[in-house]
This record gives sequence, structure tokens and C-alpha cells, in this order.
Amino acid sequence: MKVLVINCGSSSFKYQLIDMATEAALCSGLVERIGESMGNLVYKAAPGTDHEKKVAKEQPFPNHTAGMQAVMALLVDPEVGVITSLDEINAVGHRIVQGAEKFQAACVVTDAVKAGIEEVAPLAPLHNPAHLQGIEVAQKLLPNAPSVVVFDTEFHATMPPKAFLYAVPYELYKENSVRRYGFHGTSHRFVAEAAATFLNKPHDSFNVITCHLGNGCSLAAVENGKCVDTSMGMTPLAGVMMGTRSGDIDPAILGYLAKHKNMTSAQLDDMLNKKSGLKGICGMNDMRDIHTARESGDEKAQLAFEMFCYSIRKCIGAYFAVLGRVDALVFTAGIGENDDLLREEVCKYLGSFGISILPEVNHKRSGDIRSLSPKDARVPVLVVPTNEELAIARATQSVLSK
Ligand code: ADP
Repeated sequence: MKVLVINCGSSSFKYQLIDMATEAALCSGLVERIGESMGNLVYKAAPGTDHEKKVAKEQPFPNHTAGMQAVMALLVDPEVGVITSLDEINAVGHRIVQGAEKFQAACVVTDAVKAGIEEVAPLAPLHNPAHLQGIEVAQKLLPNAPSVVVFDTEFHATMPPKAFLYAVPYELYKENSVRRYGFHGTSHRFVAEAAATFLNKPHDSFNVITCHLGNGCSLAAVENGKCVDTSMGMTPLAGVMMGTRSGDIDPAILGYLAKHKNMTSAQLDDMLNKKSGLKGICGMNDMRDIHTARESGDEKAQLAFEMFCYSIRKCIGAYFAVLGRVDALVFTAGIGENDDLLREEVCKYLGSFGISILPEVNHKRSGDIRSLSPKDARVPVLVVPTNEELAIARATQSVLSK
């Protein structure tokens, strides 16, 4: 079975075609700046292998359909194609950011499902309408391949009310759906399961703290294989410090700035989502740039790095308190998988929780799942490369086989 995974944004989409027999990506890429005067497309056949073939094109894509048509032409191209006919695509798996309480598991797309995704769109106004566009395009261009939707929120649906409710008037939950939903669920589930398998522990009795640290960052507390708490909230703005997002702040700051700086809700939103986090403190949001700047003595970059690590460490401490027994601590995503200095700084003060890492193992670069801890460590620290596309493809296959 071959599954095309699509992650559709308002003016871009990422895609990957996965062969489920080997779970390898046959191709991957993205189309960006859809609807602008000039767009760009990236297509990689056999990505990450020795025989990778890359195509990069600059041309206008008036809409998502045009972008997807260009990708499909490459999929069957005699030079760089990876299939001979589009009929070889058996299914399409779509990443959907917000499923709210309506969708607690992946499902096949029907008209009712599309209406449901639209119904919860006010909770994710930038994402869900774009995902619906992706579904329409896939259904139009691949009419014989069923579409399956996989939600970022579904892994967190097992949180108990004491973890998902905010201490605000209860009617806001009932009438306005105000509650914690959590995001990056596909990644948290994938790495939690991979960690249990790696440590030879049954998934359903495995307790783990998973740290997904990329451009967006979130942590999850997983008890007996199920999520019981997570740091992101009703939106992906909450929780730990991120690249450009503030994470948790005192909510009264908003009213204070509205009153004393005349900031509108749109300006506040923009500031907290795009001008805060690492960028707000030191002007940079890519951790690699921050390390370069730190090393040349940039004090703001050093401060931003310390704040970032401190914020993650505090959340890990909280999740030790939530779980009681922790079988592993997992780092994943761009920063979690690659940044040894961050892992060292975060773990440095967690010795009393049973955390220790071997510096020589931590500093070694690798793309494999691995433990950074001594063999007898009470709580092994693992690096687990995430693969959200593969997780979506697996869920797609599983839904369709039922
Ligand atoms: P996204 O959340 O967009 O999927 P990723 O998980 O790919 O993002 O993470 C992107 C971030 O990973 C970059 O902003 C960068 O800060 C960080 N990153 C990537 N490689 C490294 C590295 N070698 N060292 C430190 N940080 C890295």
C-alpha cells in the first residue's frame, strides 16, 4: 500500500509518499507561497538516501490544486518519478491540527467529517480551513484514493478533566469549548511508543515524559501509554518557551498592555505568536544561530538559551510530580534530536529524579533512536527521532483496514 501524506497550510503544503511495505518515504517535499506572484516547489525522490534526486522549481501556483498537480506530474515523471501511475496511490492521510472533542480518533473523510472539521475551525482558524482545502484537492485529483484525517489533538483526548480544564467559569468550557486540547499529539504518541519498544517495555504500562522541541515546543506526561497532561493548551501558544511563541505568561499582562499601550487583540496575538519566545529575547529563533551568537559572547542569546532550558526543566519537574513513576525521558524534533547542549543543560539539575546522561554519548551525532544514560540509570534519557508523516500513514492504513 502507498499512502500520500499531506500537511496543508493556508499558502503552502508539505507532502510525502510512503510505501507501507517498507515504511520508507518514496518522495517528500513542499509547495510554498501559493497564491503569490511567485511560488516555489521542492520535490525529493528517495529523500535522505544516497540516490536522492531533488527538483526545485520557482513558478506561480495560483491555488492548492495547481501546486498538487505540479507534484503529481513529478511523481510519475520518467526522470524523477517514483510511481508509474497515480492509481498506485492507495490512500491519502491528512494532518489536521484541531479535532476538539468531536474527533478523538483518526477516521475516513465523509461529508459529515468535513462539516465537523469546519465546525471546530474557530478553535484553529489558521489551520483547519487550510486542511479542508487539502482534502478537497486530494478528493478532486485522486478520486479513487480514500482520504483519512489524523488529528494533532487525538492523543491528548485521554487527559482527565482536572488536567484539561482551566480554572475559569465552567460555562466557558460547556458553551465556548474553552479547555486544554494539546497539540503535536501524533509526534508524542509516535515517540512514546517507539521508546517503550526500544526499552522492551509493554506500551500500556509505560510511563514517559516526551519533549517535542522544534519551532513549536510541547511536553506530554504519558501514563500507561496514555496522555494524562500536556503543556500546550486551547491553542499552540501555551506551555514552554518556543522559537517565536511566548508559552505561558501571566494572563493579566494582556489587559495591562491593552490599557497602557493601546494594543488590540490582533496586535497582542501577533506579538505573542511571532515576536516572543527566543526571538523576543535575543532577536533569533533558530537554535543554531543562537549557539553561534552565544559562543561569540552575545549575552541576550545566552539568556534566551538559559530561559528556554529552564522553562523545559520546570515542566519536566512538574510531570515527574504528575506521574510519580517515570520510566523514561524522551527528547525529539529539530532541537530535541540535534541539540546536545540543550539536553545537557536541561538534564544537569535532574539528578535527584534519577536522570543522568553520559556526555560522550550525548555529544555524538546520530539519526538513530538511542539512550544517553548509563545502563543502570533509574530514568533513561532517550533521543527518539520523530516521524509524524509515517505515524499519519500508519494511522491511515489502520483506519482503512478496519
Ligand atoms: P517544526 O516544528 O517546524 O517541524 P523542527 O522540528 O524541524 O521544526 O525543528 C526546527 C528547529 O530545530 C530549528 O528552528 C532549529 O532551531 C532546530 N535545529 C535543527 N538542527 C539543529 C541543531 N543541529 N542544533 C540545534 N538546533 C537545531
